Amino acid sequence: MKNNFDYIVVGSGIAGLTTALTLSNFGRVAVFTKKNPSDSSTNLAQGGMAAMLGKNDRVEWHIEDTLKAGDFHNKKSAVSFLVKNSLEAHHWLKKQGVLFDTKPSLEAGHRISRIFHTTDFTGQDIEKTLLKKVSENKKINIFKDSLAVDLIVKNDSCDGISVLIDDNKIVSFFSKAVILATGGSGQVYLWTTNPTVATGDGIAIAVRAGAKVSDLEFVQFHPTAFKNKTSPLFLLSERLRGEGAKLVDKNGKQFVNELLPRDVVARAVFKKQKTSEVYLTMAHLDKKDIIKKLPNIYKALKKQGYDLTKDSVPITPAAHYQCGGITTDLDGKTSVKDLFAVGEVAATGVHGANRLASNSLLEAVVFGRRASSYIKTHCLVISSKEGIQTNYRLDPRLRGDDTQKIKIKIQKTMWEKVGIVRKKNELLEALRTFKSIKKQLEIIKEKNGISLQLIEVLNLSEVAIAITQAALNRPKSLGVHYIT
Ligand SMILES: Cc1cc2nc3c(=O)[nH]c(=O)nc-3n(C[C@H](O)[C@H](O)[C@H](O)COP(=O)(O)OP(=O)(O)OC[C@H]3O[C@@H](n4cnc5c(N)ncnc54)[C@H](O)[C@@H]3O)c2cc1C
Repeated sequence: MKNNFDYIVVGSGIAGLTTALTLSNFGRVAVFTKKNPSDSSTNLAQGGMAAMLGKNDRVEWHIEDTLKAGDFHNKKSAVSFLVKNSLEAHHWLKKQGVLFDTKPSLEAGHRISRIFHTTDFTGQDIEKTLLKKVSENKKINIFKDSLAVDLIVKNDSCDGISVLIDDNKIVSFFSKAVILATGGSGQVYLWTTNPTVATGDGIAIAVRAGAKVSDLEFVQFHPTAFKNKTSPLFLLSERLRGEGAKLVDKNGKQFVNELLPRDVVARAVFKKQKTSEVYLTMAHLDKKDIIKKLPNIYKALKKQGYDLTKDSVPITPAAHYQCGGITTDLDGKTSVKDLFAVGEVAATGVHGANRLASNSLLEAVVFGRRASSYIKTHCLVISSKEGIQTNYRLDPRLRGDDTQKIKIKIQKTMWEKVGIVRKKNELLEALRTFKSIKKQLEIIKEKNGISLQLIEVLNLSEVAIAITQAALNRPKSLGVHYIT
């Protein structure tokens, strides 16, 4: 196996694939992805991507809307760069083959229609198109079932990564630059819309390597996910409420203005859940119109036994988006030399204390492209040469219930004590729990070697500690961080 590449990208969502495709113009790229390439949040994005294309829109307006949503905690230079480059990002995706509708739509928080869709499963179309481009590109090697475990850092500079391949061997890879595009960490919570791969690995890897992280207390909860037995929960997007869906309790009584901001609605649902199940209903609206406008959501619910045109659908809030992450500048640079972060795993400063809907797909493209230009001119040398291959002995017990039980303990504690509404004493209690879990997992690792499951749960414990600590460091509520 070849161990040296010009560039190493970890993750195959929109951020990783955009960066890999752009970097392939300058050298050979390896993309590592821990399961199947399409397993990503990108593949689940239903809404769309914001872009400032319309003659009636203005750069300042999109900037102001983003700052307002982020409770003005955003980095203005990052927001301005995002908005000014949205047209280029939209065109670049179209050039790759993404068939955006010509007419944009409106979403909560945007003062004007500027959200571009393909269907109501826009993310899936983007993911499929970019993966096709990558598979046709001879300069890019994509390695599936390859979990990045840790960075190889020497003299404060990132030389490469160690990867667990097929859950049975560890191999080191070296490059001029490593780009983490590992997405979010929604799986740290019991209820989430994020796919099972979203275990916050990038954050954990960066923390272990000593890279700076920021704004991790700002976890966005979506108010309306379809309440099912296990996560990931299917998202019932903002569009439904935009079309007139009502949120009601077990007696069919409305309890919140559905068009209020996401975090306000999420808290209202969370509160109501203490005394009643909560449902979303569109039964009062035109049946044909619902099926025409929301065909995929309609079909997905039908498969679960619910008819969106007449049934009340059970819902719950769910962890949806990580606003913070690995601290980067506008070039995607982290505090470790030759280590970059793009997409949801990065804290560029764009989202501030709360993300404006449909800005995240855009951020991944804009900053993935910008990081690539920087890397091309500044990262020129592969420092180390040979990879080490180790076959690991795995204790079969680690594949079973043990790690699964610990994972659920982390997820439940995060949901109950570090979730939508936070209290200082509960945060402190949660922190103690996570620190003790991490110790327990490290002992297991020491004794028995590693497995994909163990690494994921270890990463979840690392991320749980980082989020809880960040929440404790901010005693006053701001944006989606709500503390009483
Ligand atoms: C249900 C849902 C709906 C959404 N709707 C919208 C929307 O309409 N508009 C919008 O702008 N945003 C939306 N978002 C948010 C948006 O989809 C994400 O922020 C964005 O797709 C993140 O892209 P990414 O490339 O950073 O990460 P992802 O797409 O999550 O990709 C991360 C990749 O990293 C891989 N990976 C992770 N850890 C490792 C590891 N250790 N080793 C190797 N590989 C690893 C994963 O397997 C995956 O391939 C939505 C999110 C969800 C969950």
